[in-house]
Amino acid sequence: MKSKKIIILGSTGSIGQTTLNVVRQDRKRFRIIGLTAGSNTELLKRQIEEFRPKAVAIFDEKKLFSAPSHTRIFRGLSGINELVKSQDADLVVIATSGANTLFPLISSIRSKKDIALANKETIVMAGDIINDELTKSGVNLIPIDSEQSAIFQCIRNEDNNDLNKIYLTASGGPFYNYSKDKLENITPDQALRHPCWNMGKKITIDSATMMNKGLEVIEAMYLFKMHPKNINILIHPEVIIHSMVEFVDGIVMAQLSQPHMKFPIFYALNFPSRTKNRFKKVDFIKIKNLNFLKPDFNKFPCLKLAYKAAFSRGTVCTVLNAANEELVKAFLARKIKFMDIPKLLEKVLSRHRQITKPNIIEILSMDTWARDEAVRYINKQNTLRL
Ligand code: NDP
Ligand code: MG
Repeated sequence: MKSKKIIILGSTGSIGQTTLNVVRQDRKRFRIIGLTAGSNTELLKRQIEEFRPKAVAIFDEKKLFSAPSHTRIFRGLSGINELVKSQDADLVVIATSGANTLFPLISSIRSKKDIALANKETIVMAGDIINDELTKSGVNLIPIDSEQSAIFQCIRNEDNNDLNKIYLTASGGPFYNYSKDKLENITPDQALRHPCWNMGKKITIDSATMMNKGLEVIEAMYLFKMHPKNINILIHPEVIIHSMVEFVDGIVMAQLSQPHMKFPIFYALNFPSRTKNRFKKVDFIKIKNLNFLKPDFNKFPCLKLAYKAAFSRGTVCTVLNAANEELVKAFLARKIKFMDIPKLLEKVLSRHRQITKPNIIEILSMDTWARDEAVRYINKQNTLRL
């Protein structure tokens, strides 16, 4: 059996490390040929020693480190792009967070490499452009985000026209039962404690505001070419059903597994086949009940803003994503309060002038505009509090 040659972008992060754990279980089936990190050179060095990739890249150009002679080192965002283009891989796992992953994603598609995509910000930012690139190149995009992986698996052998509705499930995050008043005083430490998933900081805060589910509505809209009016969110506290689809005949299909990212990652790495593993399987007798609740759009206004953006598509989604990234950063740095995230986001969105079919230059300039606007509101808010 030929081994699958894999590049992991963001190998030092939560998804990156889980991907390497999956690879460790079958070193014959998978071969790591490229790894990239943001700034964690210590962990990257240990990964180089263990997996002996042909090339690595570090985003932070100031971080210096050495690697054995068999490993080529690239630097900066352009270096990550170069690595993707120059290495002969079968699959690129995209596990970096944030919007600047757009270029490595496009480079992977253009160099005809299949993609296992965890990053959702890029799809939200530039969904139509990515879809056009995918159509032109014909490569496979296998989602890793657990909800999108669930939908992908449910409709894999179906006709897209037969799809009636998508049910995106959500744990509800750590504050689902909090009152609106209590949400005002949430600290970054509280928000970073997610009840079910152990993830990077950005997505953990997005889960607490429920923006994560909002971004996933937009992600599903682009990935599965579904109108947002047919994408419903269900709070499902047991986190066993990872999402469901309803077909035109009323039949519903769901994908279930233990709540751990190793399942969708294992699926994406093995695609198009299924393989055995030793992961803990679902024990239905132990679970007993599966519950479903309505999402609360008033308590979590980010959901409302995301749906509104999904209905408009275009640069509203770009602005939603970029401003949210800046607001999350500011909340983590204790510059703004938890509920300032939706409040300031709404302000930025209200000043934005929509381009329905933006080109890449328009997307990038709108991304910069939204970040500047968000920072302006953050600074204003900060001064008011002093
Ligand atoms: P982490 O923050 O844990 O990891 C991010 C990775 O990206 C790290 O390797 C980091 O490097 C690298 N990185 C950070 N900034 C840059 C940059 N500017 N340029 C290049 N590389 C950079 O995030 P997660 O693993 O939690 O999430 C990754 C993506 O997957 C996100 O888009 C998230 O929404 C999505 N996702 C995550 C899930 C999860 O369970 N974690 C579930 C579903 C989707 P370093 O650490 O060296 O700085
Ligand atoms: Mg998810």
